Amino acid sequence: MRIYTCLVEDHNLVLVLLAAAICIVGAWTTVRLAQRVRSRSRGQKMAWLFLGAVASGATIWCTHFVAMMAYQPGVTVTYEPIMTGVSLGIAVLGCTIALAVGAIQNRFAPAVAGAIFGATVTTMHYAGMSAFAVDAQVLWSAAYLVASGIAALVIGSIAWILASREAGLKGQAWAAGALVLCIVSLHFTGMAAMTILPFAPVAGATTADGASALMALGVAGVAFLVLGISVATHVIDTQMALQNRGRLKDLMEGSVDGMVVVRHGRIINVNSALTTLCGISPEVLEGWPIGSLIDGAATMEKDVLIQSYLIRPGQESIPVEIAIRQETGDGGQALIFAVRDLRARLAQERRISHLARNDSLTGLPNRTSFLEKLERSIATLNPGETLALLAIDLNRFKEVNDLYGHAAGDRLLIHVANQMRDALTETEFVARQGGDEFVVLVGGVGRDGALAAAERLRDAIMVPTEIEHAQVGCGAAIGIALYPDDAADASSLINDADLAMYRAKGSLLRPICFYEEAMDEAVRNRRRLTQSLREALDNDQFELHYQVQGSLETGKVTGYEVLLRWRQADGSFIPPDNFIPLAEETGLILPIGEWVLRRACGEAASWPEPHKIAVNLSAVQLAHTDLPRLVHQILIETGLKPSLLELEITETAMIEDLDRTTHVLRQLKMLGVSVAMDDFGTGYSSLSTLRAFPFDKIKLDRSFMSALNDSPQSRAIIRAVLALGAGLEIPVLAEGVETREQLAFLRDQGCDEVQGYLLGRPQREAEHADLAEAVLSTDDQIEDLDGPVSMAS
Ligand code: C2E
Ligand code: CA
Ligand code: CA
Repeated sequence: MRIYTCLVEDHNLVLVLLAAAICIVGAWTTVRLAQRVRSRSRGQKMAWLFLGAVASGATIWCTHFVAMMAYQPGVTVTYEPIMTGVSLGIAVLGCTIALAVGAIQNRFAPAVAGAIFGATVTTMHYAGMSAFAVDAQVLWSAAYLVASGIAALVIGSIAWILASREAGLKGQAWAAGALVLCIVSLHFTGMAAMTILPFAPVAGATTADGASALMALGVAGVAFLVLGISVATHVIDTQMALQNRGRLKDLMEGSVDGMVVVRHGRIINVNSALTTLCGISPEVLEGWPIGSLIDGAATMEKDVLIQSYLIRPGQESIPVEIAIRQETGDGGQALIFAVRDLRARLAQERRISHLARNDSLTGLPNRTSFLEKLERSIATLNPGETLALLAIDLNRFKEVNDLYGHAAGDRLLIHVANQMRDALTETEFVARQGGDEFVVLVGGVGRDGALAAAERLRDAIMVPTEIEHAQVGCGAAIGIALYPDDAADASSLINDADLAMYRAKGSLLRPICFYEEAMDEAVRNRRRLTQSLREALDNDQFELHYQVQGSLETGKVTGYEVLLRWRQADGSFIPPDNFIPLAEETGLILPIGEWVLRRACGEAASWPEPHKIAVNLSAVQLAHTDLPRLVHQILIETGLKPSLLELEITETAMIEDLDRTTHVLRQLKMLGVSVAMDDFGTGYSSLSTLRAFPFDKIKLDRSFMSALNDSPQSRAIIRAVLALGAGLEIPVLAEGVETREQLAFLRDQGCDEVQGYLLGRPQREAEHADLAEAVLSTDDQIEDLDGPVSMAS
């Protein structure tokens, strides 16, 4: 009753309503600001705290002040300015503390903050009241005083707890209501606690009333201004938040990756990319714990890429890549999960790795996977077991390629690959090495098992297929090497199988060969020989020997053939037939040949008596060096007269590229050197070669000479060649003359020149001219060539 009469009788109701309006708007603003202070990041917190403290402090104070103005106790009322100001200070300071405490993340923080707020309202009210000066005696009721304080504390706590609970409009309304109640109950209970006994009867307090009403309006105006600023700030902030949310939404929708927004562990929003990805609508997804959509989401780190799975109820999970970012929105902290579908990328990776491990034409494993498989098989082989490696090379494959084209060749390879794949057993592994070479690994078999597997595969390979209406097939040469019998490691096992395969390829009768140690030996020897041949030039192991050549007509020495010798450390010589072919294959003949030419010319130029020299040239030299330039240069270097140099070439050198060789030979002849055809009669096309180029000499091969005694055919051939030479006007030199009978026969047949052991063996020095001339001048008669040879030297 007392509170009621206080309100109704002692107050100007218009101003009371004004105070109520300030109070309601202020309370609502305070609640919103308190929530904002709570949720914002550090940087913004201080700004919101300041704004909140001013707004709510002003609210309480203005409510109080306007309500005080509305109070008309019937005496003249004045306000002491300092205490009035102090009460405003208390309001702002108290609210600052309350808001700061309320922002602490603690279970009891809202209650404590509310209590502080209640205390602030109380303190501010009574501080304000102490500025209240009337011309009367003021009596206070202690009970009301205490009650007002307790009510303010309790209701304040309730208001803050409500504000911290729910962010929505409804929650704000409840909290704001409680705040209003807190302020109002304190104020009017506090007012009711006061009784005013005037000293003098009231005499027209109207002017004072009017002034205080005006002042109240002013205060209210200021209050609304402050509140207006807060509201404006709030509106801008809300707009910004909305805009942010809109931007976020646009960003999310614009993203090709799936996006999930999560707050307090639960999904609150997803974009359409995610909906498409998982096939669940956003309405259904909302509220799900994130862990039931993304595997292991709860323990994921932020700001790194994590691989995980997108769980789809009733369907296969999708491999995804997750990136998590933290976002601070007006609703507090949120996590944004970016979800990228990894299926396409993983498939691509699988494809690439398949390509890297398989041959793209036949689909068989390639060399890389074969090597891995071999290493693994060797590592896991049980003691006592044997592993067989089959090296397979197709026969006649090149013919198919040449005859039908590469497309047909490819189809044949595919056919062969399929045939082999079908013929394989569980313990066998096939791979394509490249070209028309394959390898098969056969596990856990001995020699017989390996042979059986090789035969089975060969049969499968040889089954022909139809390509362009023709039955096309190929054979196979297979080499077999066994581990651990033949080799101690993978690479030598491959090597051994290859060697055996080469043997099989070279043999007409054995298309399947096992590796034998002798094969290795031969290869090793060859390799060793190549290596020492390479070093021979540097180590000065070559020397030149000279074999005399003489004319039958004049009985004089006509020149010397230069023959290469390879001196070994023990003083013995390796004959040129044993290393020249190897030197030709490895290309070493080029530097060696150049050395021979330079050294021979140099030595010949230093002889006191000039003699012609004949230097042998290899076909490789003819094909791969600029011989005319080299010869020219060497002649200039050494000072040898060009007419003293003869170059011997065999017809094999001519066959390769007749046009080019004849061109080169012509250039050589233009230098003034002469060119002889060596080993005439041993090739296939001696006659046509003779026609292509005007040789200066024909050297009849020594094989005819050795057969001369026993074979009438040889005699006929020698006669024919001599006749040919006479017809073409090219002198003929007979090689390999060892006996006087041979010499007599040649003289009789009109041969021009001879060379052979009879005249002299190849020697380090170009001497023995006298001996040779002595032989030449002895005019033996041929008695009976078919009889026993008695005069051989
Ligand atoms: P070639 O050009 O036919 O050389 C003649 C070969 O016959 C020489 O063997 C020589 O020693 C041998 N010979 C000479 N007179 C007689 C004889 O009365 N009876 C028998 N049975 N043999 C005789 P050599 O020195 O072992 O040379 C063999 C081959 O090596 C040569 O055959 C030649 O093709 C090649 N050669 C030698 N030196 C060189 C060289 O510097 N460069 C090139 N590219 N090849 C060379
Ligand atoms: Ca020769
Ligand atoms: Ca010869």
